[in-house]
Amino acid sequence: MSGPAAVARALEGARRVVIVSHVPPDGDGLGAGLALARALGRLGREAVFAAGGSLPPTLRSFARPGEVDTSPGGPPGPFDLALALDCADEARLGALATTCRAVPLVVNLDHHETNTRFGHLSWIDPASPAVGEMAMRVLAELGTPLDADLALPLLLALVTDTGRFGYGNTTPATLRAAADLLDAGADPQAVTDAVYRSASAAWYRLLGLALAGLELAAGGLVSHVTVTPAMIEESGADPLCASDVVDYPISVEGVEVGVLFRPASDGKATKVSLRSRRIFPVHAFAARFGGGGHPRAAGATVDLPLAAAREMVLATLLPEVLATCGAVMR
Ligand code: 5GP
Ligand code: MN
Repeated sequence: MSGPAAVARALEGARRVVIVSHVPPDGDGLGAGLALARALGRLGREAVFAAGGSLPPTLRSFARPGEVDTSPGGPPGPFDLALALDCADEARLGALATTCRAVPLVVNLDHHETNTRFGHLSWIDPASPAVGEMAMRVLAELGTPLDADLALPLLLALVTDTGRFGYGNTTPATLRAAADLLDAGADPQAVTDAVYRSASAAWYRLLGLALAGLELAAGGLVSHVTVTPAMIEESGADPLCASDVVDYPISVEGVEVGVLFRPASDGKATKVSLRSRRIFPVHAFAARFGGGGHPRAAGATVDLPLAAAREMVLATLLPEVLATCGAVMR
């Protein structure tokens, strides 16, 4: 296991760097990646963030035009270092896994406890709330001072992965790191406007259609919502935004586990997103379906159509939540 110094030394030793995250990236992966790519550029390295496809609409404003490679297969090499951010396993890189395998040095920088330690050099810190916070420690090792161009994407990473500093992964150190970012010129309102006040009317129509089907199970401990292809079509919403519906089932009074089922990007399999409030470790549950994540937020892709995937996952989940919560509450 290595740390920020080893990652910084590896980056300094490279000339052409490709930075990747899970496909599509979230605010943490993109924010950490943009900050590191910009810092490496200042240090005379050529660094590009590869998204493996379009960026989710709410994140597009953080990248300058042409700054992010959005080709599905990744940018043309050769690269001498690949930096994987916020990615617990190679499968989450999609087609970008092939891009990484062609690179002689793969550095794996992540905060998922379930990380498989793929690559040649791993720094995995499950105690860190966001890869963006780990990136700040790498930047300090590189001796790169923070300015607004670095601080805004890093603030995006911290805000999104901590639920606006509201989840249990938020520590005094997280808030101090955020204060450093504000000192360096990051505008918190820019993150709020882009991420939390930018959904299209079509997205709200999708949310309405999905929430109309919200169901409670396990005596109200589990709440689940399904986004179907028909809902996406009827609403006209961008399918890349469907994942944001996950915040609603966990917000229902008394719910311990919230679940979102939606079509995976291949249109055949099903993406399952899980959130838990305090007790049930959803990352361990997701790992049994080939996924992973954090104790309070996790996901998996199940190779079954929507209805069959929901039936199978709930058949396992409901008794486990009842048993786990029953044991804790007794
Ligand atoms: P989300 O539900 O927002 O997509 O993901 C929540 C958390 O679970 C994130 O930390 C994400 O990286 C992780 N996660 C989501 N889907 C998968 C998956 O298919 N495999 C793994 N290993 N982690 C996932
Ligand atoms: Mn993250």
